[in-house]
Amino acid sequence: MTNHSELGENRITKVVILGGGTAGWMTATALAKSFGRSIDIALLESEEIGTIGVGEATIPTLHWFNQLVGLDEAEFVRATKASFKLGIEFVDWTRPGHCYFHPFGYYGITLPGVAFFPRWQKAHRDGLARPLPDYSMTTRLALDGRFTIPVDDTKSILSTLGYAYHFDAGLYARHLRTLAEADGVVRHEGKLATVEQDPLSGFVTALTTERGETLAGDLFIDCSGFRALLIEDVCHAGFDDWSHWLPCDRAVAVPCESLATITPFTRSTARPAGWQWRIPLQHRIGNGYVYGSEFISDDEAGQYLLDNLDGPALAEPRFLRFKAGQRRKYWDRNVVAIGLSSGFLEPLESTSIHLIQSGIAKLLSLFPDRGCYSGLATQFNTLFAQDMDNIRDFLILHYHATEGRDDPLWKHCREMTVPDSLASRIATFRKSGRLLIGSDDLFKEASWLAVLTGQGVEPQDYHPLADTLDPQRNAAQLEQIEQVITRSLPTLPKHEQIIAAILADKRGASVGSMASGA
Ligand code: FAD
Repeated sequence: MTNHSELGENRITKVVILGGGTAGWMTATALAKSFGRSIDIALLESEEIGTIGVGEATIPTLHWFNQLVGLDEAEFVRATKASFKLGIEFVDWTRPGHCYFHPFGYYGITLPGVAFFPRWQKAHRDGLARPLPDYSMTTRLALDGRFTIPVDDTKSILSTLGYAYHFDAGLYARHLRTLAEADGVVRHEGKLATVEQDPLSGFVTALTTERGETLAGDLFIDCSGFRALLIEDVCHAGFDDWSHWLPCDRAVAVPCESLATITPFTRSTARPAGWQWRIPLQHRIGNGYVYGSEFISDDEAGQYLLDNLDGPALAEPRFLRFKAGQRRKYWDRNVVAIGLSSGFLEPLESTSIHLIQSGIAKLLSLFPDRGCYSGLATQFNTLFAQDMDNIRDFLILHYHATEGRDDPLWKHCREMTVPDSLASRIATFRKSGRLLIGSDDLFKEASWLAVLTGQGVEPQDYHPLADTLDPQRNAAQLEQIEQVITRSLPTLPKHEQIIAAILADKRGASVGSMASGA
């Protein structure tokens, strides 16, 4: 039997993080909060190399991370110039002139016996229902430019809300750095020069900078961004290229002046060779054109973006290159890749920061000892690959289920063979109205419903339990839900009012109390 002192000797005591972008500082903060001072954490970053400097839209899972590191919500909104995000408006995706909304909350409310979607399908077939988005409190709130915090009481329509944030990622990383350094993380400035490895095991033992500083450690987290300096250059993990399914490989980004109204949602507009994002923060609007270099030149894409802004540009356009895909291993020996070093899925559903925290959560639950038992790495790799596959399929759906666009990129995506896992989800939904969603899938029913129905994938059937409903009573219940939403909307604050209250607040009140006017 292993005794206590042997266990103690084998515990990890030094973690070295390479990279100080969003991934590096999120990882440093989370490890420092979780382990306290029992582990020394060093972070190496290079000001000269800098960070990628984009990544402003999030999904609701960010609440988990902010709670883990003890970030007060109002303080976070002030520090990162954040706005609230209730979902994404997709303009011209299904076909030119069409628009739909992917809300973060649920459709309808939960009623006994039969789920909301088949209830709606049945009423719709009986000619007794309004369009599905009319029953989404989150969609209606967003499109009315209002915002409030969800409540726990499941009898309230406000319990169906979900939300995330738009924020300045640079300010977020800076804020996290302050928290992490207060918890003992030591930042080292410099460029990586050499990596030392144990000749027998191949484990990384130390990083040395160009100035000759050496950072020794037991566990190394590769947060070096697209460079993937440890997981690829040292560990040779390999890369699965998914660009045949997700052909956009470039983006041009430029901020522009804010408007008086700060919409509580991201807008994504389909463009001839990709799509354009619009992310409103407190002080500016972030914009970008994500495109396939095979289909448009950089100059044309840059000009297209500048011609389609809400206000004057605040900087020169910045061009970025990437490739959709994933590392074949995210954890190899004592190196774990978190952030862009682990792979990349384009920002269509704002999932990269989620993937950072998903990597952090898995690392925390599978945290190894110095031997880095391979079973832990295998489990990490299996679970993370599932995350990537699920998100990849959801993104491909957006590109694939379209009509009425003959631009080469859109034609290619409509006609391409999609992964079997996605083909099966689409076919099952079309045939039966049922969604194949696993318990660990990031995107749940409301998200798949929003995009499938929004992009014209019509189910031919509905769950047979809906036949047990009395049609008139079913229709009356739906009508009641719609009326509750319609009545409550004007009573809720405008998004700008909530932000103004948070900025003006000197009492440290919670966002929830400000949103409810308490
Ligand atoms: P980086 O920010 O690139 O950081 C890498 C770090 O490694 C830096 O500190 C750098 O100095 C350091 N480094 C590199 N080489 C060396 C070296 N030799 N020596 C020392 N240090 C080194 N995500 C979202 O969630 N929402 C979005 O809306 C979103 N939009 C995006 C739009 C685009 C066009 C792109 C490309 C990405 C977007 N992302 C988005 C992804 C998001 O930007 C990243 O997930 C996030 O910024 C994390 O990046 P990172 O920390 O892994 O890498």
